[in-house]
Amino acid sequence: MVFKKCPGQDLSRKKISEVICNFPCLKCGAEVEFFFDDKVRNCPECGAKVEKSEARFLKDFGCAEWCGMAEECIGPEKYSELYKAKKESQKK
Ligand SMILES: [Zn+2]
Repeated sequence: MVFKKCPGQDLSRKKISEVICNFPCLKCGAEVEFFFDDKVRNCPECGAKVEKSEARFLKDFGCAEWCGMAEECIGPEKYSELYKAKKESQKK
């Protein structure tokens, strides 16, 4: 069975600016490129851990934030990251 992703997570429907965004490394200031489903990346310059903001992470996942099929769609691992980010963002 081929599982078809819903349009909200279909990369071919996203604009490049929605798929890739840059966040500056807090340690050395280098721009770190994040793919839309990345939450944490290592800086290519200094190797420091760079985290995407919760708000941007949630926005990038779009419909997965509320979609009932999100867990199957993006996978349980990403889903738990998303869930954590959502909880974090509600705390503030
Ligand atoms: Zn750095």
